[in-house]
Amino acid sequence: MTHVSIHWFRKALRLHDNPALLAAMRDCAEVYPTFILDPWFPKNMRVSVNRWRFLVDSLRDLDESLKKLNSRLFVVRGRPEEVFPGLFKKWKVTQLAFEVDTEPYARQRDAEVLRLAAEHGVQVIQKVSHTLYDTERIILENQGKAPLTYARLQALVASLGPPKRPVPAPTLESMKGCCTPVQDDHDKEYGIPSFEELGQDLKQAGPHLYPGGESEALSRLDMHMKRMSWVCSFKKPETSPNSLTPSTTVLSPYLKFGCLSVRTFWWKLAEVYQGRKHSEPPVSLHGQLLWREFFYTAGAGFPNFDKMEGNPICVQIDWDDNQEYLEAWREGRTGYPFIDAIMTQLRTEGWIHHLARHAVACFLTRGDLWISWEEGQKVFEELLIDADWSLNAGNWQWLSASAFFHQFFRVYSPVAFGKKTDKNGDYIKKYLPFLQKFPSEYIYEPWKAPRSIQERAGCIIGRDYPRPIVVHEEVCKRNLERMKAAYARRSSNLAAQTQEDTHHGKCE
Ligand SMILES: Cc1cc2nc3c(=O)[nH]c(=O)nc-3n(C[C@H](O)[C@H](O)[C@H](O)COP(=O)(O)OP(=O)(O)OC[C@H]3O[C@@H](n4cnc5c(N)ncnc54)[C@H](O)[C@@H]3O)c2cc1C
Repeated sequence: MTHVSIHWFRKALRLHDNPALLAAMRDCAEVYPTFILDPWFPKNMRVSVNRWRFLVDSLRDLDESLKKLNSRLFVVRGRPEEVFPGLFKKWKVTQLAFEVDTEPYARQRDAEVLRLAAEHGVQVIQKVSHTLYDTERIILENQGKAPLTYARLQALVASLGPPKRPVPAPTLESMKGCCTPVQDDHDKEYGIPSFEELGQDLKQAGPHLYPGGESEALSRLDMHMKRMSWVCSFKKPETSPNSLTPSTTVLSPYLKFGCLSVRTFWWKLAEVYQGRKHSEPPVSLHGQLLWREFFYTAGAGFPNFDKMEGNPICVQIDWDDNQEYLEAWREGRTGYPFIDAIMTQLRTEGWIHHLARHAVACFLTRGDLWISWEEGQKVFEELLIDADWSLNAGNWQWLSASAFFHQFFRVYSPVAFGKKTDKNGDYIKKYLPFLQKFPSEYIYEPWKAPRSIQERAGCIIGRDYPRPIVVHEEVCKRNLERMKAAYARRSSNLAAQTQEDTHHGKCE
């Protein structure tokens, strides 16, 4: 028992399948499970109170689980680069362990922490466990470039074999000889932050539909895995964007914060699939985890992945700067009830279905408002509980036909799309209750209802609810021309390839 270790929790807010944590506890006399709260973030980042609540829940749960191992979580306040030298000295640390993080901000931070550790003679252990595979390995297998298609990613991971199996959580038995020195004033110095400290008003939070933490993640995973025939027949395109309760797992916030290990999820699915007929990627649940892997690998492999400029895979488009439209979209005041209901669910609950994300992302960008996907990305980054740098940037590029997906002539109608799965408009009525009394035939297009019906419904369009800010059929055609022009400006190679497709372009 030679080491004094810090295990640095960043993502991976869990004990199960946490190889860096296990490594920190090996040959270790003292371990300090540490989370660093950089006060810059609550002060400067636009993050909804819903996501702060998820983080606080997750830290509380982690602390409770660590208590059962006679340990505690140390929440240290400050910038990691500034607090580590002091912690190394104070705790006489010899070893620092953490999970690999591929995001650019994290890479830069970690490079500085590695330098500091070397300066203080602290050995560093890093383990991959946020993704199914080591994204660097996938990129290496693909001649140093992240794959640009899902099929290519599938081929690459097939050549690597199945993902590693999850490692077990530490137990009292496995921690024999390794303790955590805890002082009486622990809560005062290292306690879980209050909402007041984070500058958040909990009264502004929406309903507590997705409590954070590993315990909650594992019990939700268990609950889904018991629905074997649902799991085996899961086909993403057949799930509904506007069901009144989610039609997919909503495990995304748990995966984002690492309360749930993606490898645990993968192998639990494999157990359910075993010996049963089941759907396949890209539409199956395994397929969804491979989408995550796809965008993580792209985020790790391409520079400026969250931007248009300087991003080698992103089509350069002359988006408009229209604050009025952007605000209307963000606040759910576009006059299209389907779009506004989705944005209302996002603002209040912090999670929306994947196809609902499709609808509002297409509407903001190439479909209707012609506003940059970077603006949409920022709004999602603030409001989603599952906001995830790689997945958010990758999917926004997809939906705006800026990268990965190039069939820009396929545009979602803000009216027809929602009707496919909710003719009655119950979803709209739930999130926009002032439209509740509109008959179903007008619920997606209330501006078309005769004045007498609007009066009976108690909602006059243009007074109590806005008229559509754009006429979809008109802007959509204009935008299609602008997309064609943007694509034509690309390399002649790509323009030639897509021209054939665009000849058949039409708006829904
Ligand atoms: C514009 C846009 C922005 C998005 N931003 C985010 C984001 O910030 N964070 C985020 O987690 N997801 C994002 N997604 C992807 C996807 O919508 C969510 O992961 C999914 O809806 C989460 O719900 P679920 O857990 O019920 O998914 P399920 O269908 O139950 O899938 C299980 C898991 O697979 C992964 N997954 C599923 N679909 C995708 C996908 N298209 N791309 C990557 N991973 C996927 C998620 O981790 C998800 O939790 C975005 C999609 C769009 C169109």
